[in-house]
Amino acid sequence: MSPTPFSPSPGEPVLVLLEAGADGARLPRVADPAVPHLRVSDQGVTRGDGLFETALAVADEAGVLRMRKLGAHLGRLASSAAALQLPAPSAAAWEAAVERGLQAFTAANDVAAGDRLSVRLTVTRGPEAAPGALPQPSAWALLSPAPAVEDEERRTGLRVLLLDRGLDSRAPERSPWLLTGAKTLSYAVNMAALRYARAHGADDVVFTSADGYLLEGPTSTVLIVRTGVDGTRRLLTPLRQKGILAGTSQAVIFAAAGAAGWELGYGPLVPADLEGADGVWLVSSVRGVLPVRAVDGVEIPVDHALTLELQAHLDADGDPGAHVAGD
Ligand code: PLP
Repeated sequence: MSPTPFSPSPGEPVLVLLEAGADGARLPRVADPAVPHLRVSDQGVTRGDGLFETALAVADEAGVLRMRKLGAHLGRLASSAAALQLPAPSAAAWEAAVERGLQAFTAANDVAAGDRLSVRLTVTRGPEAAPGALPQPSAWALLSPAPAVEDEERRTGLRVLLLDRGLDSRAPERSPWLLTGAKTLSYAVNMAALRYARAHGADDVVFTSADGYLLEGPTSTVLIVRTGVDGTRRLLTPLRQKGILAGTSQAVIFAAAGAAGWELGYGPLVPADLEGADGVWLVSSVRGVLPVRAVDGVEIPVDHALTLELQAHLDADGDPGAHVAGD
């Protein structure tokens, strides 16, 4: 018996389950986000064994919700799945689920131009399977209203702490099981680092490797702008092979900045590279481009015009092509 169709309520998140059909294909079904859907033995819960993506949908002038850089997110999800050897749903199945979720949200809400949704795609290794049984990953998309980032937040900037992640920069190559470049569900360490920063008078974190390289924020990529003596703008980001996630926002911004004639650099970077820069930013899909105003308690310049320029590059949402850090 098929479950009763569920209609989301206005203002509430929309949950779309990717259910395995008889032929193994994943079919989207809108379900009630207020009731349980996972087994307590799901390895996503018991071991943090799974992966996720957080993307953004924004309503255009006509109030139609459009996904930002969905292809880049699904590409990264496939790379994470390969790193975890996790049989994740196909890109086509995710696209169908997201489309279904956007339709359901639109049916339940008066969507206005500029409205934003955070779109979180999750896949876990599923419940412990009996020996010999096929694994049954659990997969779903959750679309939740996301508040607009206030102009004030983009203007003021973040105080960050540089925190040692405890791994040297060769660790990703030496120990691929650390999964440093995959967006796994094991974010407890990242959240602990954010709590540590907040308890010590800061807003956010930039991780460093044990041998002193700049890495990334717990939920963001680091960008630096420097202007050369000849006036050329140089946009820099840490080297991905040092153990960071391939940022989709970084890739879009680099593609647009490169097209606008900026020089692009992919590290390796060290904390000294933050000094004397025109500005430093943390970038990610939902919060966008946020300037850093202090590093370890030392104030650094905040250039609001540059923040808006980088944010405009991100909003233009071009094809990131090959502009992923370190590729
Ligand atoms: N680095 C980490 C560890 C992240 O968790 C994220 C996003 O959540 C990013 C970087 C930025 O990635 P994106 O720009 O694709 O959102």
